[in-house]
Amino acid sequence: MRSTDTEILPSACPLDCPDTCSLEITVTDGKVQKLEGSRLNPLTEGFICSKVRRFGRHLYGDERLRYPLVRTGTKGRGEFERIDWDSALELIAKNLRTTREQHGGEAILPLCYGGSNGYLTQDTLDARLFRRLGASRLERTVCAAATSRALAGLYGKMPGVAFDDYRYARLIVVWGANPSVAGIHLVPIIQQAQQAGAKLVVVDPRRTPLAKKADLHLAPRPGTDLPVALSLIRWLFESGAADLEFMAQHATGSEELRTRASTWTFERVAEVSGVPVEDLETFGRLYAATTPAVIRCGWGPERNRNGGSAIAAILALPAVAGKFGQRGGGYTLSNSGAWHLNSAALANEDEPATRAVNMNHVGEMLLHGEPPIHHLFVYNANPLATLPEQEKVRVGLERKDLFTVVFEQVMTDTARYADVVLPATTFLEHHELRRGYGTYALLEGQPVIAPVGESRPNYQVFGELCHRLDLGREGEPESPQELVASLLAQSDRGDELRTALDDPGIAFPETGQNPVQFVDLFPGTSDGKIHLLSEALDREATHGLYTYQDDPGNQQAPLALISPSTSRTISSTFGQLVRRQVAVEMNPNDAQARGLNNGDSVRVFNASGEVQCKLQISRDLQPGVAMMPKGLWSHNTLNGATPNALAPDTLTDLAGGACFNDARVEIAAL
Ligand code: SF4
Repeated sequence: MRSTDTEILPSACPLDCPDTCSLEITVTDGKVQKLEGSRLNPLTEGFICSKVRRFGRHLYGDERLRYPLVRTGTKGRGEFERIDWDSALELIAKNLRTTREQHGGEAILPLCYGGSNGYLTQDTLDARLFRRLGASRLERTVCAAATSRALAGLYGKMPGVAFDDYRYARLIVVWGANPSVAGIHLVPIIQQAQQAGAKLVVVDPRRTPLAKKADLHLAPRPGTDLPVALSLIRWLFESGAADLEFMAQHATGSEELRTRASTWTFERVAEVSGVPVEDLETFGRLYAATTPAVIRCGWGPERNRNGGSAIAAILALPAVAGKFGQRGGGYTLSNSGAWHLNSAALANEDEPATRAVNMNHVGEMLLHGEPPIHHLFVYNANPLATLPEQEKVRVGLERKDLFTVVFEQVMTDTARYADVVLPATTFLEHHELRRGYGTYALLEGQPVIAPVGESRPNYQVFGELCHRLDLGREGEPESPQELVASLLAQSDRGDELRTALDDPGIAFPETGQNPVQFVDLFPGTSDGKIHLLSEALDREATHGLYTYQDDPGNQQAPLALISPSTSRTISSTFGQLVRRQVAVEMNPNDAQARGLNNGDSVRVFNASGEVQCKLQISRDLQPGVAMMPKGLWSHNTLNGATPNALAPDTLTDLAGGACFNDARVEIAAL
């Protein structure tokens, strides 16, 4: 495939997406020309999303950080001048040292989340540095906290149905996920299954592209997935469709679950959720009667006060209805449980536990934390664009006694508040190892080009800071090759994985790439059973597991604002490339009631903040629901505030997760 100056090199996408595409990168004279999907990962099938296909704009765009910068003006204005790496690292090391001496290690907060899902870019040398400094620890809770806890509680993280196997399903339920914009490779498989006669049910407050093609679309009010799932569980038991034999053999807690679901009649749920009784009943009958049936459970249902219980109830459905044991039957949430490679273990967990800071409370902690945070080190994250209570985060970042480092690929909204900005390499410029959480693949990526400008990989920068602060130890893995070797050595199949990564370039877990639940995969709980009413979850849940908490709306803020992902960004990643103004969407009835017209400039507001933007009237939303995408940057709205300015920092009933979809707002003309 080589010509004189052009090479086509393999790579793997490490971005926060379930699919983990295998890639082919065309490089001419050391410059990336093209990114395409390869067929190495069977799921990729030679195509990738438009976000990554256009990665060159991110790699070489004007916003790309090429040199270390030090602040020269007021925080937030983005006024910097170039410095050399040695001075930048010395400045940071000095501040880390003095902060620890004067205020204690817990005055340091590392803030990292989601910019890369690569093993080498998070939780390796960074964790080693911050643990040895005695820094506060970040609880990464803005996404997947409640889902992970529910999956662990019920099934001990049992992985799910491989996307490829959806083609065998006769009924596919897509619940709180939108594969048309995230995890796109599922869409053609669903379409194939439909062409072969499979039915499709979509549960989502919005009419997503798949909902438009579904046999049944249920649009519950945000936060009411729990009662919807409980009413199905009740109906399965009462109608005699529950698989009592399966549950007797493979589950505990079925009677307790039945009792807790018993009050959720379809009539009561219709009132709470807005889903008509007949649709609930149709769904129940279809699910009971169709096998194999698979539920693709997304992360939408977790982003509210009932999130943990909602996910637990959705995941309980295949157990109650006896849908396991056949190819194309069961559930898929995250398949990361198939791998037992833990990069955090490389950091050596021998340092004493320190204060844990819930990521949802970073704004509050920056303003009122005790002990106060004096050093904030942000990497792989853009907290201003992604954390709840945006205004608190922004005011916190303005604090004069806070030293902020942002280690990033592009100049983000958060980076504009930094004291020192460090340029980071992308996955095309550094070594990476990536495990899928939708696909079962493990892929390795080597640098395909030299770093752009003076950018450096995370493992290099954190390794160097460890040495400057005398926190390194003889013989520890440091180079990317050593880190990968140490990771693979955690598996009994380490040598086998290494060989597979070398040739053909992809590895799969012991269970293979298409395991079947209750044939190849079993619950990882202590007794190997499904815990339909896990005692641990029941103790932890705010009001006990499966307890519904009412809508947080009120007269001043009656509209539920959801902020789902779009095809343009991955959370906030690539937000610098989306320059246009983004509108809030609402149902025509709600607009009419407020005297608003399509294209009006409006205020979307509540007690936490206000976003000024254009209005788009949409029949894809139910009355009472408004929508703005997640991950917007300040340039996407009229006043610079984005939907997370309206999101509360309240927590899910399990695991302290984010409640973005509990944002309740009013919308009025500007
Ligand atoms: S973001 Fe997802 S779909 Fe896009 S290239 Fe990466 S893994 Fe593939």
